[in-house]
Order: sequence, then C-alpha cells, then structure tokens
Amino acid sequence: MPKRLIAGNWKMNGLKAAVSEAETVAKSLSEQSADCDVLICPPATLIAVFEEKLTGTAVQYGGQDCHTNESGAHTGDISAEMLADLGCAFGIVGHSERRTDHGETNDEVKAKAYALTRANVLPIICIGETQSERESGNTLKVLTEQVENSVPTDLDGTKMVVAYEPVWAIGTGLVPELSDIEEAHNHIRATLTNMGIANADEIRLLYGGSVKPGNAGEILTVSNVNGALVGGASLKAADFLGIIRA
Ligand code: PGA
Repeated sequence: MPKRLIAGNWKMNGLKAAVSEAETVAKSLSEQSADCDVLICPPATLIAVFEEKLTGTAVQYGGQDCHTNESGAHTGDISAEMLADLGCAFGIVGHSERRTDHGETNDEVKAKAYALTRANVLPIICIGETQSERESGNTLKVLTEQVENSVPTDLDGTKMVVAYEPVWAIGTGLVPELSDIEEAHNHIRATLTNMGIANADEIRLLYGGSVKPGNAGEILTVSNVNGALVGGASLKAADFLGIIRA
C-alpha cells in the first residue's frame, strides 16, 4: 500500500502571519512523527516564505496550479519550473475551483500535469462529480471520463497523485457515505489500471471534500483511500494536526 499523504490546500487564504500555522505543524511533527507524508499548498505569494521556514522539516509544500509553458508572456501565471525553483514537491492541478472559475478542461489539466512532471514536481490531479451529476446517477461515468482524459497514461504511478473531490462536498460540510467513497475510489483505481499506467496500484488516491478531524479517521480506513486533500481544515494547525493524527 502506498504511504499516506495528507495534503492541505490553502486556496486563496493566508497572509504572511499564517505561515506560523505551518511552522506549528512542522514543530509538532518533529516532536512526534506521523506515519504519513504531510504537504501544504499555500497561495503562490507564500511559497518563498515556506521555502525559508519549512525546508528540512517534515512539512512539504507545493503549488496550487501552474501554466503549461516554462516561461514567457503569460501575465499573472506561474510555471512548473518556478514552483520547482522554490522547492515545491507537489502541484495541484484540475481542482474543481480552477475547472469552474477558469473553465479548465481535462486536456488542459493533463497538459499541466505533464508540465509539473517536466519540472520534477509531482502532480496532484483532481477530479470529482457535481451534485447534479451524482443525482442523475452519472458519478462513475463522469469519473471515468475525467480520469481517462486528465491523467497522463505514460507517467509512472509513483510519480503522481489523484484526488477524488466530489464538487458538492467541497467547503459544504457534506461528505459522501463511506460506501460511496469506497465505490468511487475502487472505480478510479480500476480505471487507472485499465489505462495501463505503470504501478497503477501505487498511485496515491486522496479523498477531498469537508475532511475534518472528526471524520478523517473513518474516511482514511476506506479501501483505496491513501490520504486526504484538505481545504478549510488545513488553515489552522490544530485542525490539520487533528487530521494528520487521525
Ligand atoms: P474543503 O476543501 O476541505 O474545505 O472542503 C477541499 C478542497 O477543495 O481541496
């Protein structure tokens, strides 16, 4: 079984003072290590501060998005090479908020995953159905389509992470039944395996959507759940540590 990954996604939250929350997490992990990898993806404005404060600690850090080009005339964008330059271990791509707010397609998400790979940054590729897709019984169909079209087939399974985040569960406090999470994760694993991806059984499959200290333990026992992608509850060290310790 792949080593678990607990990843925090700060989204567009956090001024410089918030870095102390990540330092608190690192300090706690130095006193009592955890049996999982721990990652925080702060807003791009804080990555250099993370590099300064967190390099060499048990907290890895990463980006929340990247452009597909290495450099050039793309005002406001950040390349995978820039993330690598600041020591980012991972980069999130295809988050539903990017897909919704910026109209990102599966093809673009896949291109971003390749861009990260080019820079030796591990992609965390996000997928997940909307509420109406679930209600119309199309969850597994949507997941198949997203996996087949956003996940590169020629990357080794140890070099990428896939995050299942039902859109309706993000930031809402709603969480699918454990049996629904299990069905989705088993389906995603089977799809990745059918795609012929090398070491598909080593791909870490994260669950994301309203993960809290109180529900993380049971979610993390579900088969084929190899970690969590945590939004709101990653902003405060106490909550994030509660999830890590779960
Ligand atoms: P949430 O966000 O934990 O606040 O629901 C999860 C995510 O969007 O990654």
